[in-house]
Amino acid sequence: MPTFETQTYWDAIDQQRLLVKACKACGQAHYTPRDHCPHCFSADTHWLPASGRAVVYSWSVANRADPPYVVAYVQLAEGPMMLTNIVGCEPADVRIGQSVQVTFQPDAQGRTRPYFQPTGKDAV
Ligand SMILES: [Zn+2]
Repeated sequence: MPTFETQTYWDAIDQQRLLVKACKACGQAHYTPRDHCPHCFSADTHWLPASGRAVVYSWSVANRADPPYVVAYVQLAEGPMMLTNIVGCEPADVRIGQSVQVTFQPDAQGRTRPYFQPTGKDAV
């Protein structure tokens, strides 16, 4: 659910843009968005448009769901880890280190959410 700290993030998602927070004090990006940098606790953070590129860091299949879906941590090109779902491929085709790209799709409640799908060179 959006909070004061994440409202800007969700507003951008509605416009199919992915934002992360970056810190002017230490230069590192983070996710989920916070007013204070989790790396150095500086309040000097600002919004940064993310490229939407990421690689699969770890993943598992939610087999109890029908159809099963893939829950994964992906590492954004900007550095932060993001918990998301992998879409657009069979669960058996997901691999650690796979290149993925953000895609925006409505969830069951109709809310736009960022998911990730394999990029062209990895797609089967
Ligand atoms: Zn920092």
